[in-house]
Amino acid sequence: MAPTMMKAAILKELGQPLVIEQVPVPKPEGRHVLVRVQAASLCHSDLTIIQGQVGVGAKPPLILGHEAVVVIEELGPEASKYGLKVGDRIGGPLWQDWCFDCYECKSIGTEFCSKITMRGVTSQGFFAEYTTMDAASAVVIPHNSPATAAQLSPIFCAGITVWDALSRAELKPGETVAIVGVGGLGEIATKYAQAFGAKVIAIDVHDGQLESVKAGGSADEVLNTRGLEPMELIGRIRELNNGRAVDAAIVTSGSNAAYSTGMSILRPLGRLIAVGIPPEEVPFNAAVVAIRALKIIGAKVPGQTGTAACVEFCQRKGIYPKVNPRKFQLEDINEMIDLMSAGKVEDGRMVIQFF
Ligand SMILES: [Zn+2]
Ligand SMILES: [Zn+2]
Repeated sequence: MAPTMMKAAILKELGQPLVIEQVPVPKPEGRHVLVRVQAASLCHSDLTIIQGQVGVGAKPPLILGHEAVVVIEELGPEASKYGLKVGDRIGGPLWQDWCFDCYECKSIGTEFCSKITMRGVTSQGFFAEYTTMDAASAVVIPHNSPATAAQLSPIFCAGITVWDALSRAELKPGETVAIVGVGGLGEIATKYAQAFGAKVIAIDVHDGQLESVKAGGSADEVLNTRGLEPMELIGRIRELNNGRAVDAAIVTSGSNAAYSTGMSILRPLGRLIAVGIPPEEVPFNAAVVAIRALKIIGAKVPGQTGTAACVEFCQRKGIYPKVNPRKFQLEDINEMIDLMSAGKVEDGRMVIQFF
């Protein structure tokens, strides 16, 4: 039986540090299940949510966190038909509470439903000992998984987001993909891209992150683009890629410069996949897009089906995100936020480990 009270990190005011407090353990209603959080990781989006910069707007008081591995404690009244049992270890994407009835749910994907809530933004998240989750969004982690909860946790936002990007890039064996920005998301993208059979060029403006992916063996080539003029940039890419521009560029960095870089290194008919979200609009050169017949494609956190496919792929290939060796506690959350804000996350994804 779950206790009646739990420890939670609460956003009480936008732009302010989170406050650790005892609050009641929630009751699972409708399709939801009560879960005990085993591991929850900090995502870069959490920083923008705290600042109130996410489109739909976070409304304090709010428990943040949308990337976790949890264990089911209790099923809500309508949860049983989703095949879950008490004791199952699960994760899920950012989205939940879709309606299953609208055009988007039926014909495009539940992640496009206008009724969805976003964990840790418009519904309660994982920076607490317990929370509830929509059973329809859950992906069960096999009991024989060799990975730790800390290794699995970042798959549920960072992993599935770049999974979606790589799926939409439609890479063929022998193609070259540039991963522009190799922080948290980009580091995982290099691993997935390599497993997809592509040649991987990691691009960043920080040597530390480039050295990290080079040492990890997931980048065939690395390039620091800091200070390179456009002609120098494409020249360096051709040197690294048998004289050719790249077939696809996945931009994980949320900066306009990263988008300029990605666009300028594509071959004709090349694909630019937008993942990172800059705070301001990204201007694009329509002439370049038209003359080179480029494709600009958006990536999005997938729904339950895409998440399940990504989790299966990670298990089968043994690919897991790089996790910070420090075992963070819930009380460390504001320090984690400060470290991520300062860009000091080269040691891998920071994960709170509850038990
Ligand atoms: Zn995220
Ligand atoms: Zn719907």
